[in-house]
Amino acid sequence: MNSTTTPTADRKIVIVTGASSGIGEATARRLAADGHHVVLGARRVDRLKALAEEIRLAGGQADHHELDVTSLDSVRAFVQAAHERHGRVDVMVNNAGVMPLSRLEAGLVEEWDQMIDVNLRGTLHGIAAVLPLMRARGAGHIVNIGSTAAYRVDPTAAVYCATKFAVRALSEGLRQESTDIRVTVVSPGYTESELTHHGSDEEVRAAVHAASQQFAIPAASVAGAIAYAIAQPEDVDVNELIVRPTALT
Ligand code: NDP
Repeated sequence: MNSTTTPTADRKIVIVTGASSGIGEATARRLAADGHHVVLGARRVDRLKALAEEIRLAGGQADHHELDVTSLDSVRAFVQAAHERHGRVDVMVNNAGVMPLSRLEAGLVEEWDQMIDVNLRGTLHGIAAVLPLMRARGAGHIVNIGSTAAYRVDPTAAVYCATKFAVRALSEGLRQESTDIRVTVVSPGYTESELTHHGSDEEVRAAVHAASQQFAIPAASVAGAIAYAIAQPEDVDVNELIVRPTALT
């Protein structure tokens, strides 16, 4: 942890959704190490608590809050708590996501809804909660986690891709509407995380899990891209970053 290298004036209040595992967890570690104060949100509070303690023990600054991004009330409470405690929110990383893949003909409508509710609606809830606060200050940075699935469609991933294309589209719309707030989409390819642990189509899940095991890059590598965008000067708006394993075309 090198929190002493970031002057206090440059320390940002960064809130991260889905910080209990994978990319969100790695992002929290990285941004805390860069000297920022991270506010961690997810449903598995025990994991958040342990991560926040680990960050503080290493000399960083972190607190946590239970969060379900499918609920606008929950996201508002999460953002408000951070705002009240710290007086501002500099960066919001809308990272929470799920990817239960299947072919459309399997008709797993509940899992389609879950992807829409977490990946798309959850990101919109984050924007709805934080944008008025950032607009009022005339400054802020919203980082949405997309995917290579925001750029191409593959069988079994139609709904997941639809949510990620949508995240990319609404990020571009937000960028076009903003001259005071920075907007970044970070789009990873296969990355080490728990993303491929879920989904009721076992055959598809096993195939995606195997590909991920073979190709995935560390979550810390994606965290590095997020940290890069955040570290740019306020007048530099990094809009899209794609970070995929070198071994994949
Ligand atoms: P993980 O499964 O490891 O992490 C997902 C995170 O989302 C967890 O912290 C989980 O926390 C949280 N989450 C899920 N549902 C909710 C909810 N309703 N409310 C709040 N938090 C929720 O996967 P990744 O780290 O890989 O995923 C992070 C992002 O990266 C996602 O948006 C994903 O689509 C994207 N991505 C990942 C890729 C990969 O290969 N890993 C590739 C491309 C994009 P909890 O369960 O505790 O609530």
